[in-house]
Amino acid sequence: MDLYEYQARDLLAGHDVPFHASILLKGADADLSQLLNQPLTYPQVVKAQVKIGGRGKAGGVKLVQNDAELSATVKAMFGMDLKGHVVERVLLVPAAQILQEYYVSITFDRGAGQYLLLLSKYGGVDIEELSASHPEDLTRYHFSPLVGLTQDMCYSAARIAGFEGDILDQCVIITMRLWAAYQSADATLVEVNPLALCLEGDTEKVYALDAKVSLDDSAQFRQSELFARYEAAESQDAFSARAKSDGLAYVRLDGSVGVIGNGAGLVMSTLDIVEQVGSSFEIRAANFLDIGGGASLEHMQNALSLILSDEQVECVFINIFGGLTQCTLVAGGIIAALENIHADASNAVKPRPLVVRFAGNEAEAGLKLLGDARLENVHVYDDQIEAARKAVEIAHQARTGGGRDKS
Ligand code: GDP
Ligand code: MN
Repeated sequence: MDLYEYQARDLLAGHDVPFHASILLKGADADLSQLLNQPLTYPQVVKAQVKIGGRGKAGGVKLVQNDAELSATVKAMFGMDLKGHVVERVLLVPAAQILQEYYVSITFDRGAGQYLLLLSKYGGVDIEELSASHPEDLTRYHFSPLVGLTQDMCYSAARIAGFEGDILDQCVIITMRLWAAYQSADATLVEVNPLALCLEGDTEKVYALDAKVSLDDSAQFRQSELFARYEAAESQDAFSARAKSDGLAYVRLDGSVGVIGNGAGLVMSTLDIVEQVGSSFEIRAANFLDIGGGASLEHMQNALSLILSDEQVECVFINIFGGLTQCTLVAGGIIAALENIHADASNAVKPRPLVVRFAGNEAEAGLKLLGDARLENVHVYDDQIEAARKAVEIAHQARTGGGRDKS
């Protein structure tokens, strides 16, 4: 499980990794008005809490100088789409005065069967880029799971990376704390980028300005407390929470073709097909959604309205294999679901084209039912590759400004 930055800070601060005190906002208006009643030290950094790297470059990290800028920036950030991730939480941190940006991470190198400590005096940037352009500036230090990371080893690694004097000591202390956190949380990744030398008054001190932690899902059985603490926030993600309460197996992805299928295997292979057919247009699936065996009207309606509430979706691809389920019943479900969804004014969703593919039990009759219903913007297929091509074409047209499919 990947943690949000604010969760990673919480975890690492528990091991005395130095951070500046931060404030988490969960909703723009309510939190802001309270916040602005207390004096804040400016400049502040406003940070979108989404599980992607490179938020800075994507517009998810902003420096603000006063209350007015703060509230405008926070308001604009909520709901913002960063690489397909909608911002629902924002972190505020007093801006540090940065003198130098470093990099440190601990991870597991499966190939080598060892842990890997990465250190650099030239952090702040995308580490993959640094590794490619200036590999000599990134120190890679392997260590054995049997021995772990001792302070002596940590000093050697940090000296190789070019750290000296008091800053060397500070970086080693922090790295040892990261290692303690890594072990005790059963992490697979702990990364601080930037780890920064900051000016405070007239002293120089090293702080963690960002944090990234992934926990090992296989260790959940012995980390139940940590998982519970951080998952509770996770399930507040609007889409996931809704899917959970509707009993749908759903994972949000970052493409534009909404996918609904019955059976996890079929949905996975549908994602593969969309990926394959869509790759030359950079069109991908917007989600994984398995409505399960029954594919009842209620399930179909919940699934469709969930997917249609997702702004990134340009087209919905429904791929059904009728086993015990008769495709005629699924067709009836789709027709009724569409009527209900569009009749419900309180839930005004913008209509999107549907591509439906049926195979198996009563497939032909089901497709005929859909065809006869003369629904606007519903395309029917008995072949999933052809159906995927249509879905990709529609999504591609929508993206390239060709407008939505009107046929
Ligand atoms: P990321 O882009 O998702 O890794 O987000 P970061 O938290 O690493 O922030 C991106 C960049 O914003 C950092 O590399 C810094 O250059 C800048 N930044 C972050 N926090 C501060 C701060 O407290 N003060 C200043 N001056 N810049 C900051
Ligand atoms: Mn960062």
